[in-house]
Amino acid sequence: MLADAIGREGAEAALPALRQLGTLVGSAEAREHARLANEHSPVLRTHDRYGHRVDEVEFHPSWHWLMRTSVGWGLHGTPWVGEPGQGAHVARAAGFYLMGQLESGHCCPISMTYAAVPALRRDPGLANVYESGLVSTTYAFGLAEPATKPGLLAGMSMTEKQGGSDVRAARPRPPRGPTARTGWSGTSGSPRPDERSLPDARAGAGGLTCFVLPRVLPDGTRNGIRLERLKDKLGNRSNASAEIEYTGATGWRLGDEGRGVATIIEMVSMTRLDCVIGSPR
Ligand SMILES: Cc1cc2nc3c(=O)[nH]c(=O)nc-3n(C[C@H](O)[C@H](O)[C@H](O)COP(=O)(O)OP(=O)(O)OC[C@H]3O[C@@H](n4cnc5c(N)ncnc54)[C@H](O)[C@@H]3O)c2cc1C
Repeated sequence: MLADAIGREGAEAALPALRQLGTLVGSAEAREHARLANEHSPVLRTHDRYGHRVDEVEFHPSWHWLMRTSVGWGLHGTPWVGEPGQGAHVARAAGFYLMGQLESGHCCPISMTYAAVPALRRDPGLANVYESGLVSTTYAFGLAEPATKPGLLAGMSMTEKQGGSDVRAARPRPPRGPTARTGWSGTSGSPRPDERSLPDARAGAGGLTCFVLPRVLPDGTRNGIRLERLKDKLGNRSNASAEIEYTGATGWRLGDEGRGVATIIEMVSMTRLDCVIGSPR
């Protein structure tokens, strides 16, 4: 049935590769990685041994195996560099469906990164800085200045204590500096090492506005993004969902001031599509 749908939707050429991915997904090795990544939940390290604030998350090696596999197969971004009309998004959706059958927790950062690109393209300057890293099939874990990394991942930080479903409930906080941000974000799934809190619907004078916040700034210093705690969840245990505090963080505005919800909705819609693709068992 899946193969028929892939052919019908114009991605026939991708079938041999998808069959290969299907074989991998069904393998004992892959299933063991999926089990271990859920058995050993991520651990938050807020400080290093000298007491310096680091805000890093440690994942089990099997989590990295899953991420490396999905990034290697381009499920996080390759369709954005494919020729339009060649079924690239269909093939990616089928691959995402297969990896979701194996382990759905790691599919969150894969989906977020995939969904970040169309939103980021609202600003060609920012797209120029980040897109090549976001679509790269190299998985590069660890905090470093984005331009020095062979691959990047993205996340989305929208929810606040007073509002999740209603993003408009986010409390505007006038920036102290041109790009300084403060405030609390309720949840951000999987604070990736080089996460771009993209978009971060904080507020300028014109109301809720989106910003791109790299974990590490162009001068190599860490951005004011603090991971307060990881959520202890019923499901999705392989994935880290963090409560974040922005303390004088630096961000770059994405989209027009006051158009934060309109900008973020493009990314939200893409992730919702992946929720549909990832749900059937
Ligand atoms: C595993 C996990 C990962 C997450 N990752 C992220 C992330 O990466 N980035 C991020 O920003 N957030 C993230 N979130 C937060 C998520 O977006 C919010 O939990 C979600 O938007 C719901 O908001 P809330 O929890 O405040 O619930 P509420 O908005 O308070 O909703 C509570 C209940 O009320 C219902 N409800 C709300 N409004 C209405 C209404 N108008 N009419 C009828 N019913 C209504 C809801 O459906 C729900 O059943 C994550 C959450 C989880 C559990």
